[in-house]
Amino acid sequence: MSTNPQRLGKYELLERLGQGGMAEVWKAQDTQLQRNVAMKILHADLQEDPNFITRFEREAQLIASLHHPNIVQIHDFQVSHPPESSTPTAYMVMDYVEGGTLEDYIASTSARRKFPSPNQIVHLFTSISLAIDYAHQKGMIHRDIKPANILLDKHNTTRNSMGEPILTDFGVAKLLGVSSSTLSSSQSGTPLYSSPEQAQGYPGNERSDLYSLGVILYEMVTGVPPFRGNTPIDVITQHLNVTPTSPALINPTIPPALTMVIM
Ligand code: ADP
Repeated sequence: MSTNPQRLGKYELLERLGQGGMAEVWKAQDTQLQRNVAMKILHADLQEDPNFITRFEREAQLIASLHHPNIVQIHDFQVSHPPESSTPTAYMVMDYVEGGTLEDYIASTSARRKFPSPNQIVHLFTSISLAIDYAHQKGMIHRDIKPANILLDKHNTTRNSMGEPILTDFGVAKLLGVSSSTLSSSQSGTPLYSSPEQAQGYPGNERSDLYSLGVILYEMVTGVPPFRGNTPIDVITQHLNVTPTSPALINPTIPPALTMVIM
């Protein structure tokens, strides 16, 4: 970011929550409405792409048009031109969701063979599937579904004790103009959740989102993702060529019907 990091427009930056290859996420305060928000600030080098601003504005508009209780609501998006800098800064402002991510949750439960209850799993996957279905019906594909992109709202536990799941980063992969496998490999090292077609560099479609969701379900009931490896290529090769070990062989308590759904 090339501007004063403490403030962007009417937003006061409070705490950096994370930094990926393409963007950083900040907790911030909307000084007008006096409420906390999360801001995704896109890296300046992306903005040197002459088509970036047009693509950003078009895609951000689409993302902001999604309204669903299990999708993070975008309130505002801006391309600001700070007077002291020649490069514009593009950012999106969204609901601040307090709680951890599903990635943290899996690390402290399934990965330690403390599996969530069937009720929790059914609720989680029903909510996220309905959210994805809603977006698909509006012609939007997520393209980067992974546990780190599912926030668990700890202030809303009425339907699920793990926190209400809220999907974030909808359409951001497309907005950034990179394939999901590029995104995942630059941010988390390995494309664990990429569909085979995205791993090969194709843009993917609705079914790619379902594939990623299936990988998450597999991981939640077995404690391990279906394909692991030391390098991105190793994992990609398995997505393309290998049938995963049946989840029931890893966790014998998984009912056959659930194994069938996952496989
Ligand atoms: P990734 O590295 O997967 O791209 P992000 O950069 O999107 O992750 O997010 C980085 C951190 O910011 C994560 O720890 C996530 O929990 C947090 N975060 C992202 N969006 C929000 C939000 N709307 N509210 C609160 N925290 C968020």
